[in-house]
Amino acid sequence: MGIEQRYKTVHRQVAECAIDCGRSPEAVQLIAVSKTVGLEGVQEAVEGGCTVFGENRPDQIMEKYAAFPDVQWHFIGNIQSRRIRDIVPCATMIHSLNHMDHAEKIGRVAQELGKVQDVLVEVNVSGEETKSGIAPDDAVEFVQRACAVAGLRVRGLMTMAPQGDPEAARAAFRGLAALADEIRGQLTAPEAMAFDQLSMGMSEDWPLAIAEGATMVRIGRAIFSENFHE
Ligand SMILES: *Cc1c(COP(=O)(O)O)cnc(C)c1O
Repeated sequence: MGIEQRYKTVHRQVAECAIDCGRSPEAVQLIAVSKTVGLEGVQEAVEGGCTVFGENRPDQIMEKYAAFPDVQWHFIGNIQSRRIRDIVPCATMIHSLNHMDHAEKIGRVAQELGKVQDVLVEVNVSGEETKSGIAPDDAVEFVQRACAVAGLRVRGLMTMAPQGDPEAARAAFRGLAALADEIRGQLTAPEAMAFDQLSMGMSEDWPLAIAEGATMVRIGRAIFSENFHE
């Protein structure tokens, strides 16, 4: 099976899983994380019907956005301040906001470009030291401050679950969903309305994430790697 076929399979599985969980297939967006492949790999996924991609490096999102400007590019990687000017013009959504300085710079750059940048706030729900993201206890205040930054629209939360431990992953997804509900309750009505996205779940654990309310799953290896088996 090639990338085109694997994309189609995963896309179908995501829709079926949503239905099994009593949700609409349209409620869960599949983001194909193409960071391990080049333009040919992206082309194969496009041929399979893929319209939404994720990248974690500024150089990669710039190159791929230039080659494929008609699909969506989501930035899911570590943000460096000096690369924000490169990322914002390409990104439909930035999933990994976790510093207020970055929020302000993203907002400034977006305003210069005449756009409003959709962002998600990355939360380290599991508390693993190796993971980035703000602490859950700081999330309400962080989101409220980010909502006040001109040029930004805060759309929800993102997390990376612990790998290799389904119970721990599920707990992290459940925790992120509960935190998002709590935050939404503290926002003004227009901010709460926009705050409707939960980016969680990767190749190993996306069905659990959908069961816990993911609206975006970020799937790389299951689509782009020949050797991935659940
Ligand atoms: C690489 C990556 C993914 C995809 O991971 P897979 O295990 O390959 O599905 C998802 N989210 C982020 C932030 C990543 O860096």
